[in-house]
Amino acid sequence: MYTRVLPPSEGTLRQAAEYIRSGELVAFPTETVYGLGANALDGNAVLRIFEAKGRPGDNPLIAHIATIDQLDDLILAEPSPAAKVMMEAFWPGPLTMIFPKSAYVPSEVTAGLDTIAVRMPSHPVARRLIELAGVPIAAPSANRSGRPSPTAAQHVLEDMDGRIPLIIDGGACAVGLESTVADMTGEVPRVLRPGGVTAEQIAAVAGSCAVDDSVMRPLKAGEKPRSPGMKYRHYAPKGELTLFGGSASRVCCAICERYDAALAQGARPLILAMEANIPAYGKRRVVSLGDGEEEMARRIFALLRDADALNADVLFSEAVEASGLGLAIMNRLGRAAAFHIVNVDEGGDEA
Ligand code: AMP
Ligand code: MG
Repeated sequence: MYTRVLPPSEGTLRQAAEYIRSGELVAFPTETVYGLGANALDGNAVLRIFEAKGRPGDNPLIAHIATIDQLDDLILAEPSPAAKVMMEAFWPGPLTMIFPKSAYVPSEVTAGLDTIAVRMPSHPVARRLIELAGVPIAAPSANRSGRPSPTAAQHVLEDMDGRIPLIIDGGACAVGLESTVADMTGEVPRVLRPGGVTAEQIAAVAGSCAVDDSVMRPLKAGEKPRSPGMKYRHYAPKGELTLFGGSASRVCCAICERYDAALAQGARPLILAMEANIPAYGKRRVVSLGDGEEEMARRIFALLRDADALNADVLFSEAVEASGLGLAIMNRLGRAAAFHIVNVDEGGDEA
């Protein structure tokens, strides 16, 4: 199959909507990452997503909607008051909510679970595509399973060339990390996966918000997380990645020490540092994490994609504080580092 990459003209979006209605797959931009979409009400179309991605069949998808009334087909009962205020505050936007599912939703979308994940994206291309298709669109990230999520059309092409007919190129993604996933089936909203909408923001509108403890630790053997996606191996660069948190000057010293020791042993080390800190690393090989957490979120998946091409066999990265957007960054970076995190203020013990 030839994979076309086209800008989001109205004609292209109409063609894309036609693909979706006829059971084909289309990759499209959202404000979080690129999605690989199929008609969420067509079980066979949804199965193609799993094939194209090489995604394990027990990892459920997120259904994307453009209007609130599209929820009716997807969820079993009226959303709770907390869910309603969260929709009001964060939709359209990078928040996915989990509800008991309706009987209309094919089991392929939810991987057999009796709950469904729903999100209303804010990206105008995603919204127009859903509107033109006239159905909710089930879409996970448009990467091959085990690869970093795509934040540019070129990343999608790297992973999906020959597997899907069309990639809509909407430029770089504004958030750069996948959506926050909040389980709304209990008393209190519970973040299963941190993202662009923070737990602090949810608590401010919903009264309270729990964060699942699996977010910042490796899973135990055989453990079944509430969000099935969490149990799968996350992309890790070929080189061994370690994160360093704590006061900035100590982090820099600790990274320089480890870098120099690696170099002395004949290894090819690489440092990932915030833009402002780069001069402090002198002549060492450094790539920039950007300026501030928002830019870091936008860059991190592209950097992880590039890490192997940079031919580094040991990587040292500055960490950020695991709160606010930093929790989402540290969740992704932590998993890529198999949670090898050194806190330089606590005597440098490795977690
Ligand atoms: P992706 O779109 O590739 O980022 O993956 C969707 C994420 O949402 C995965 O981590 C899934 O495990 C999670 N997810 C989707 N549906 C559910 C659900 N019903 N219950 C819990 N987690 C879900
Ligand atoms: Mg994904």
